[in-house]
Amino acid sequence: MRLSRRSLLNKSLLAVSGAALTGAVSTRLPFGQARADSGEVNVYSARHYPADEQLFALFTEQTGIKVNQLQGKAEELVERIKLEGDQSPADIFVTVDAGNLWRAQEQGVYQSVSSSELEQHIPANLREPSGKWFAFAKRARVIIHDTTKVKAEELSTYENLADPKWKGRVLIRSSSNIYNQSLVASMIHTDGAEAAEAWCKGIVANMAREPKGGDTDQINALVAGEGDLAVSNTYYFARMLGGDDDTLKKQLENVRVFFPNQGSRGTHVNVSGAGVAAHSPNKDNAIKFLEFLVSPDAQAIFAGANFEFPVRDGAEASPIIAAWGKFKEDEINVAELGKNNAEAVKIMDRAGWA
Ligand code: FE
Repeated sequence: MRLSRRSLLNKSLLAVSGAALTGAVSTRLPFGQARADSGEVNVYSARHYPADEQLFALFTEQTGIKVNQLQGKAEELVERIKLEGDQSPADIFVTVDAGNLWRAQEQGVYQSVSSSELEQHIPANLREPSGKWFAFAKRARVIIHDTTKVKAEELSTYENLADPKWKGRVLIRSSSNIYNQSLVASMIHTDGAEAAEAWCKGIVANMAREPKGGDTDQINALVAGEGDLAVSNTYYFARMLGGDDDTLKKQLENVRVFFPNQGSRGTHVNVSGAGVAAHSPNKDNAIKFLEFLVSPDAQAIFAGANFEFPVRDGAEASPIIAAWGKFKEDEINVAELGKNNAEAVKIMDRAGWA
């Protein structure tokens, strides 16, 4: 028996309540209460930031289109969309990191769309070339250093972190994490696979400890004196600086951000992005939703509540990240990060990066 989209939605809900998906589930469920004007959009989201609730609420306020959200891990949501096939209720799939966006694209999750609004306000290197997905916010992968141990003058490039002078000093998370995979993918693109592998070996040799935890844990380990520098996405550090833990803020007094590769290709930048699902039942609303994400109001939410860099020209970053100053970004097309992902994983594995 062929299942209707409605029963698939209900099955989704059952699966969610049965904890088949991890992560919080929006209280705006259940899905599928379609109005005659189809005033809804179904968003499958692998982003788990409180700011997203603000975004969805504002979209509904501005357009009258209701947002139904299903949250989960990227791989789980991709599997679900594949299983649902052409009856999938998914209109939009949102995730972080170009590597994840690429994997979803490879699994047939997205369809190409064109919109002058999206093309005008999202720089070309931050869009999948055929319109399958679009970046709405950026994060830079930076070096966080304790200035009492490492002066900014001693730092230069990611490549330099493989130098033996950093032996036992580098805090960085595991190779299973997509952020590091994308960083290595960018190196394959710029420096070639052989150089990228040599770099990974150098990083492994220089690690202050076996990789464990997320980016925030690397910064905490830096504060605890376990290493002299940490590799992290910008928003994690900004959250610590912008949080209400005064003891931590005091401990971070001598800790600074360093933007690598300013004299060459620029600092590695990754994205949060989304695209229209291949079998979207509310395609017009889905495109409206994407266009909303690049609107000045939505860009301000990305910047303000989640400390990501806006993609739209003229949109301002939050004061905490703006205080770090302008920096040169690596402008390779983010789709390249996905294309090189599989090779990056192999290289990191061969280099013994845990
Ligand atoms: Fe993150």
